[in-house]
Amino acid sequence: MLEFHPLKVAAVERIAEDAACLTVEIPSALRDAFAFHAGQYVTVRRMIEGREERRTYSIVTAPGGGVLKLGIRLQLGGRMSGELASTLRPGDLLDVGTPMGRFRTSISADREHSYVAFAAGSGITPILSLATDILAREPRSRFTLIYGNRSISRTMFLEETLGLKNRYIDRFSVHFVMSREPQQTEWLNGRIDGHKIRELARHMPEVSSADEYLICGPGDMVDEVRNAVKTLNDSAPIRFERFAAATPRPVDNRRTAGSRARIGARHHFRGHGRPAPQLRDGAERRVGARCR
Ligand SMILES: Cc1cc2nc3c(=O)[nH]c(=O)nc-3n(C[C@H](O)[C@H](O)[C@H](O)COP(=O)(O)OP(=O)(O)OC[C@H]3O[C@@H](n4cnc5c(N)ncnc54)[C@H](O)[C@@H]3O)c2cc1C
Repeated sequence: MLEFHPLKVAAVERIAEDAACLTVEIPSALRDAFAFHAGQYVTVRRMIEGREERRTYSIVTAPGGGVLKLGIRLQLGGRMSGELASTLRPGDLLDVGTPMGRFRTSISADREHSYVAFAAGSGITPILSLATDILAREPRSRFTLIYGNRSISRTMFLEETLGLKNRYIDRFSVHFVMSREPQQTEWLNGRIDGHKIRELARHMPEVSSADEYLICGPGDMVDEVRNAVKTLNDSAPIRFERFAAATPRPVDNRRTAGSRARIGARHHFRGHGRPAPQLRDGAERRVGARCR
């Protein structure tokens, strides 16, 4: 059953042009309540302008340890993402619900699996948790990540992803697919959709021969990738998490028109008549320690 607890915010750090990593502490008395499986999510509850809002965010970290990390992408006019990424400060309390969700796999040290994961944008969050846990606990398994973004500057958890590659150089590989930043390898340009899966399969045999597939991103991306993977390999399990409905809500232009203004490397978001929230972690994106 979902139970909320006020958890102390330990850090709010900028991790991409328009995304932040939120770290909350789990006191020892709540460790059992907040025990989770890689791939699960928590619900965050907050009063925003007198109205209670709840949103779900996947846990980025692998199970174990005394903190939970969440990766929040700022949405244009979004109530909760703006609030979390811009107004929370270390020491604040945040109502967080106990972990839930079925996007998980049965990790076992005996397995010798080939996993192929497709993540689009903020869909990297549960995939990173799963990859970290699988690689640590299944020493004979391999993990291939295909990670789609518009550009490197919008790529969430880039350092953590590259850190996994350094740590598991023989068992983890990552391929970045960019839709608005051309790369030398032509077939890694574009969006992750059904066509791209078929194209990737021509260059990467594991795309059609994996033992298990993991997919996370917006609803339409998930549906297209699932269908394409099924036609390539109809025997392997396909696990997936949708972050948003396939059909977005109609956009109210009065509220969202011009809702984002770019000032230097910062983004300012305006929405719902509220003051523009800003990412707080300085304008420069630092490569190095963050959100581990
Ligand atoms: C299982 C799960 C896990 C998730 N994990 C993550 C995660 O790890 N990281 C992450 O960043 N997100 C994640 N999400 C998405 C997250 O839950 C929120 O949906 C997201 O942060 C947007 O919330 P918001 O309150 O900022 O935006 P909202 O206020 O819900 O608005 C969303 C969009 O709709 C528009 N909108 C709002 N109201 C209207 C209206 N009346 N008319 C027209 N347009 C409108 C807004 O402008 C905005 O673009 C996850 C979702 C699910 C289901």
